[in-house]
Amino acid sequence: MNITVIGTGYVGLVSGVCFAELGNQVICVDKDPEKIDLLNAGGIPIYEPGLKELAAANRVAGKLSFTTDLRNAVRRSDLIIVAVGTPPLPSGEANLAYIEQAALEIADAMNGYKIIAVKSTVPVGTNERLGSLMRGRTGMPFDSISLPEFLREGSAIQDTLHPDRIIIGADNPGAAEAMVELHRSLTEHVVVTDIRSAEMIKYASNAFLATKISFINEIANICEKVGADVTQVAEGMGYDKRIGPSFLKAGIGYGGSCFPKDTSALIQIAGHVDYEFKLLRSVVEVNQDQRFNVIRKLETIFNGELKGKTVAIWGLAFKPNTDDVRDSPALEIIQHLLDNGVKVRAYDPVAMANFRTLFGKEGVIWCDGALETAQGADALCLLTEWDEFAEIDLGELQTVLKRPILIDGRNVFKEENLIGTEFIYYSVGRPSLN
Ligand code: NAD
Repeated sequence: MNITVIGTGYVGLVSGVCFAELGNQVICVDKDPEKIDLLNAGGIPIYEPGLKELAAANRVAGKLSFTTDLRNAVRRSDLIIVAVGTPPLPSGEANLAYIEQAALEIADAMNGYKIIAVKSTVPVGTNERLGSLMRGRTGMPFDSISLPEFLREGSAIQDTLHPDRIIIGADNPGAAEAMVELHRSLTEHVVVTDIRSAEMIKYASNAFLATKISFINEIANICEKVGADVTQVAEGMGYDKRIGPSFLKAGIGYGGSCFPKDTSALIQIAGHVDYEFKLLRSVVEVNQDQRFNVIRKLETIFNGELKGKTVAIWGLAFKPNTDDVRDSPALEIIQHLLDNGVKVRAYDPVAMANFRTLFGKEGVIWCDGALETAQGADALCLLTEWDEFAEIDLGELQTVLKRPILIDGRNVFKEENLIGTEFIYYSVGRPSLN
């Protein structure tokens, strides 16, 4: 197919590159000229393993191009995929300004029948509303499709080319069939639903995954008090097919650009129809508190006296293999430490630049490597489970820290590796050592 993808962020760029890889002719559009210039120069505006190489190969093959010219791209395409951001408003609701703007620009550019597929995560009813908005602007025929995206940053190409399922929300069987055909080679689980159900599937899936995380984190907190080990508990639970092993990893909670925003948006969506989503409210509350697990441990170790201490932070991205720092637990943890007079030394293998921009404040000592960060610190807190941290030489680490205090917010280290060392080791939901 001739496809235009609007928005070259984490979703749009990966989708565009993968659709080209699958043999389609793809034009990626973004309103940000710096991003498009970078892409046209062979660069990639985000960190996503394998993406640069795949994009380059498809550009060379003439299947992929980048432009700011939405009008021309739309006119040359049969399918328009919308992947612009829907960030949260202060109220928690999704900000639909970008997607409405994109819909109007598409309407103004139309020169014949198009399928408009929305990959952005949008509240139930939004696709219908965008359709009406467009019909107020153009007499050209089109069909709306809800095509929610489930990729995970860090494994986005694998997830796009080998998805667990594809959801196609449509009210026109012909348009639905064209979308089924486009995705047929990717998975046997292509599910066609009505548009509102497809929109809801996205929110319900993320809310359920967030619930699993908050659930295991609460179990972890109880494990700490009763002397059980949450990793063993999660393993034992996960073999039950009704439960499954994924998303049962205790830690300092979820962050990122999706779970926090989508859980808040679903609470709002429910609220608009007079339904209080009590369970999801608790999931969010538990998650918000869980990031302070690290702080509480520091306070216990230092008898409540954080002022004047130096704390090293390993990991700023909300999870490994991405440079995305949106709603990363590190933002609040570092802010809290600074507010309490702590000297913070921080490092992340790829997310430093994004973090510094988003954090936007002075006072943190930014370091160039893991061991350098730990140099002279009273304690080290691991917030993101990058391989680089898991593979560190613990003997060397012990020698550079002022005090061998390690708070492992992601349960990266194994007890057997720490036995025989002098580390005072705290993790999440597992017995502490020394
Ligand atoms: P992003 O912020 O990384 O990228 C959005 C891009 O859209 C930006 O480059 C912006 O310049 C561009 N844009 C905005 N308005 C535009 C317009 N009118 N014309 C052209 N370009 C425009 O966002 P993202 O993380 O890729 O997320 C996109 C959507 O996908 C969101 O709704 C998000 O909830 C959803 N989603 C994200 C993920 C993820 O892991 N990031 C996963 C699943 C779903």
